[in-house]
Amino acid sequence: MKVFEKQSNVFRILSEAVSEGIVVVNKDQIIVATNGSADEIFGYDTKELLGKSLNVLIPQKYHHSHKDHFEGFVTHSEKRNMGRGRDLFGVRKDGTEFPVEAGLNPFTIYDNDYVMALIIDITQRKEHEQKIKELNTQLEHKIEERTEELHHTIKELKEEVKLRQEAEAKMKESLKKERDLNELKTKFLSLVSHEFKTPLGGILTSATLIGKYTKEEQQLKRDKHLDTIKNKVKYLDNILNDFLSIERLETGKVNYKFSHFPLSKVINEVVYNANMLLKDGQRINYPIDIDDYMVEFDEKIIELVLSNLIHNAVKYSGENTVIDLQVSFENEMLAFRIIDQGIGIPEKEQQFIFKRYFRAENALLDQGTGIGLNIVKSHLENLGGSITFTSKEGQGSTFIVKIPIITNHGKQ
Ligand code: ADP
Repeated sequence: MKVFEKQSNVFRILSEAVSEGIVVVNKDQIIVATNGSADEIFGYDTKELLGKSLNVLIPQKYHHSHKDHFEGFVTHSEKRNMGRGRDLFGVRKDGTEFPVEAGLNPFTIYDNDYVMALIIDITQRKEHEQKIKELNTQLEHKIEERTEELHHTIKELKEEVKLRQEAEAKMKESLKKERDLNELKTKFLSLVSHEFKTPLGGILTSATLIGKYTKEEQQLKRDKHLDTIKNKVKYLDNILNDFLSIERLETGKVNYKFSHFPLSKVINEVVYNANMLLKDGQRINYPIDIDDYMVEFDEKIIELVLSNLIHNAVKYSGENTVIDLQVSFENEMLAFRIIDQGIGIPEKEQQFIFKRYFRAENALLDQGTGIGLNIVKSHLENLGGSITFTSKEGQGSTFIVKIPIITNHGKQ
């Protein structure tokens, strides 16, 4: 202590030049020297702190821990910063507490140990740190809000994209429908031009010839031409019906009518009509013992299916061949087999046979539109039925149709 009293002027001159507060304590923690900054920081008059315990500058609640700390520090006696990693507080004369940063420097003069504490009032820095913390928190909140908003916008955008995609898909679908319908019209026009030309020419020739056979004994010739006319009109009528059928299937306007009818009625009608188209020596075998069978189905559809398949069998088979129409009941299904000994379908083209307008290469010499099988399949599928086939080029084809029906085996 005496040292500092003696040298007080030297200490004063040196310490007053330092802006940090300087507090020197002896090993008993008694303050032996302070500079003006320290007095000012802690709110004391000059020299007022001298002889006081260091504890007057430390808040009561830290006294205990500080004592241990100080003793440990003097024992190890090394220079260091206090408060790194934890908050240090000082207490002013008026009792107010404030945050400080302290650097401790132990030294010895004439065998006496001292510690010089360099003290900075970091109230402002803490305030700034607090401000920065608050600003950071605000920023984080803002970022969170913005992120939330962004998520929301992304969600809205995704929904918008989904709606647009749906609208686009709808538009594409209606465009496709329109294109299909246009294609249908174009096809129809080209078919009318090509497919109708030959039969219409035939009808005109037959009609002209009929006009020339005026004699009574020429009735046979007249009948023959009348058959040709009927035949060709029937052919044209079939094409028109096919087109109407496609249009109805396409626009979803098909109305199926279920009724109860004898199976033999439809078969007889179909075979009767097909007989008019037979080539020389062709014959249709069909079951004659089915008078008892009553079925519940759309009669017109069975007729359409069978006549299409039998007409194809006739058309794509040569003279002197047999066409077989077989009927059987297989597990709640009524099965028809139409078997011919005709040109068959080339293997590589079999996969396309139900595609609309598709015609196999070996069939192109015969008249046709490539529509029939497509319609047949659509109707059958609509009604829970099916159509399959097996075929060998040059040997013949077998078409198998199955439809779900309620049969009634027994006379009505
Ligand atoms: P179209 O007979 O008017 O061409 P379809 O849709 O009825 O139209 O038949 C499509 C194609 O399937 C035919 O062009 C032909 O190539 C082939 N086809 C259908 N039935 C037979 C059959 N019984 N024998 C050989 N080929 C057939």
